[in-house]
Amino acid sequence: MTNWQELESKYFMHTVNRVPLTLVRGKGTRVWDENGREYLDFVAGWAVNSLGHCHPAVIQAVTEQVSTLIQTSNQFYTLPQIQLAELLVKNSCLNKVFFCNSGAEANEGAVKLARRYGKLKLNGAYEVITATNSFHGRTLAMTAATGQAKFQQAYLPLPAGFVNVEYNNIEAIKSATGDKTCAVMLEPIQGEGGVNLPDDNYLKEVRDWCDQKGILLILDEIQTGIGRLGTLFGYEQYGIEPDIITLAKGLASGVPIGAFLAKDRASVFAPGDHGSTFGGNPLACAAAYATVKYIIDHNIAGNAGKVGQYLIKGLEGLKRKFNFITEVRGRGLLVALEFSSDIGTELLTACLEGGMLVNRVKPNALRLMPPLTIGNKEVDEALGILDKALSSVGKEVVK
Ligand SMILES: *Cc1c(COP(=O)(O)O)cnc(C)c1O
Repeated sequence: MTNWQELESKYFMHTVNRVPLTLVRGKGTRVWDENGREYLDFVAGWAVNSLGHCHPAVIQAVTEQVSTLIQTSNQFYTLPQIQLAELLVKNSCLNKVFFCNSGAEANEGAVKLARRYGKLKLNGAYEVITATNSFHGRTLAMTAATGQAKFQQAYLPLPAGFVNVEYNNIEAIKSATGDKTCAVMLEPIQGEGGVNLPDDNYLKEVRDWCDQKGILLILDEIQTGIGRLGTLFGYEQYGIEPDIITLAKGLASGVPIGAFLAKDRASVFAPGDHGSTFGGNPLACAAAYATVKYIIDHNIAGNAGKVGQYLIKGLEGLKRKFNFITEVRGRGLLVALEFSSDIGTELLTACLEGGMLVNRVKPNALRLMPPLTIGNKEVDEALGILDKALSSVGKEVVK
């Protein structure tokens, strides 16, 4: 049998410490490795496979589109991207859309749009305020936007024009705002930073501040958007309307795509201001349309909200049982479990042995982000695997 992991180490730049598991197939909430072993998937392609693996609606849309038209370039009109744009606009508070291919690219575009806005309407303001512990992607500019030194240090100097301030602290945003500020960019809930939830009124206060100063509020909904938090968009959870949102991860259930959407007043791009070769290609847009349509028609966001509550309740039960679980937090199906010591890797391995994929989001925390189509029965199964894994690494079991 081919040793794929050895081949990988021979040919790849070593940018990731992979989990020693070679996956070959997926269906719904499950994936299989090269030895035919089955795993419950609570990583879901990094919060990407919103409808699970190989959902029939996505298979059908992609299959039909791949044999009809894959790519044309954006000089021409194509159907799937227009249908997708209409679907997203009609179901959000935004009015106009731009399609690209990834999350980082969506954020780059959103920041360019905010700078364009600053040039035209705010006397050339260009600075964007972002939060510490945020994550906005791996391009150079998004590395500057991402408020985590560990991502920035190796690449100094970074592009100028970003100010990182403490998350969930409105005063920090206020004191960082100046003549040069054109926008504030935040995640409704910080995903990569460890599933950090802001206070309920934080985003409202940020919205009010942006209105008062005439600057734009960009929400990076790459992880929180498309149903993950229990509503189609994360901003709905906080009772505010952003000026710009960015999307990617769950948008096409696994096919690469990114997008940013803006209110009419912020849609200031003119022909030539921005572009993409692959962005909005018919194949990706057909997958995204099928995904979003299915999520809306079958209230999959509602399911994520309900099952998410059930999951959190179950995890709270585990927290009562294992006193080294210090916190259970999350919303919808974006959930983290934090521990009093750095047992994340040990636990991940124990979960794998139990037949479940999880993400070690911090040395002392696991993140759970299963497909949004998951049901209570699979959650029960996951809780059972976690219980065993926690027992196996458990230092002190209280009850
Ligand atoms: C994953 C993520 C990104 C980056 O997306 P890529 O597709 O990896 O470029 C940006 N912002 C948030 C909030 C994310 O979770």
